Amino acid sequence: MAKRDYYEVLGVARTATEVEVNKAYRRLAMQHHPDRNVGDPEAEVRFKEVTEAYEVLKDAQRRQVYDRYGHDGLAQAAAGGGVDLGDILSQVFGGAFAGGRRRPRAPRRGEDIEDILDVDLLEAATGVKRTVSVRYEANCRGCGGTGAKPGTHPAPCRRCKGTGGETASLGGMFSFAQACRGCGGRGVVVTDPCPACRGVGRVETRESIDVPVPPGVDTRVRLTVPGRGHEGPPGAARGDLELVVRVREHKVFERDGHNLICQFPVSFARAALGGPVEIPTLTGQKVTAEVPRGAQTHTTVLRVPGHGMPDLDDPRRKGDLLVQLVVETPAALSAEQEELFRRLAELDGVTPPAPRKGLFGKLKDLISGDAPPTEQR
Ligand SMILES: [Zn+2]
Ligand SMILES: [Zn+2]
Repeated sequence: MAKRDYYEVLGVARTATEVEVNKAYRRLAMQHHPDRNVGDPEAEVRFKEVTEAYEVLKDAQRRQVYDRYGHDGLAQAAAGGGVDLGDILSQVFGGAFAGGRRRPRAPRRGEDIEDILDVDLLEAATGVKRTVSVRYEANCRGCGGTGAKPGTHPAPCRRCKGTGGETASLGGMFSFAQACRGCGGRGVVVTDPCPACRGVGRVETRESIDVPVPPGVDTRVRLTVPGRGHEGPPGAARGDLELVVRVREHKVFERDGHNLICQFPVSFARAALGGPVEIPTLTGQKVTAEVPRGAQTHTTVLRVPGHGMPDLDDPRRKGDLLVQLVVETPAALSAEQEELFRRLAELDGVTPPAPRKGLFGKLKDLISGDAPPTEQR
């Protein structure tokens, strides 16, 4: 079946403006829309025909190709970019016909940018406003993204006759469609490049963005800043900026879900007798906690409620601070302390070690096997 001329299908002149093309399509699509012609299979055929014609004539580039090369020139392009009815309908009717068929979709928006955002544990606990510098691709303001020097226009690519596609052979009967290597799939080539972007149509732009980091973030939490990614084709929305949080390790506090864990040194006497100690928290506050009598090194853990990390969804809810006690054995004793420890040792029923002999004496003991007894339980 021979294809009808697209202008004929839409019933417009070859000189029709964009507005006239839109108007004609809106009228015909209404008339032939399958939802309005239930049970009439021919309506769907006519509807597809007008939509295909419109898809070409509304696009200045493809219309140019069609004017020059007709249906044959466009035939190859179909392999690379099929007609998306839903997209066209939503553009023309603003989604009026999209209900029930598919969601209306805006023109393809720009790519998202993903980056890593490093924050301190304290910043993760309190929340912070950070300013990040982001490089994104934008359409060149000088040429509006075409790459052609202002006042000039890109010319249709000769290699692909403006379709942007070409067929590559794998030998034998196998072949596949790929982007034209003459124009990179754009269908046009820039003969007179825009000086601002050197004919690329895109420029790299840097901008500073304030990013609120909410309290409670953890490593791998994603923060989305809408509309701060790469620019899409002219007229399309920008992509998003996606920041993946990475929380730095803290020297003192370790995170375990909503709780924080830290170690805290206590003296021998405090561990044995118990009593209050002042513990520093992540935010710099000092809280008092009670060491139980007979606290054991590394195994006694104090729980300080509400001094852990806030919940990301509800920052008023906070985890606890878990304090692992580390009992420190005194390394250098004053005379008075030594006397007291000796008395303690006597009470244990253990012979206190002999007064220090010096290195030579100790070695001798070791060799003769006459070492002083060590404390044992
Ligand atoms: Zn430019
Ligand atoms: Zn080409």
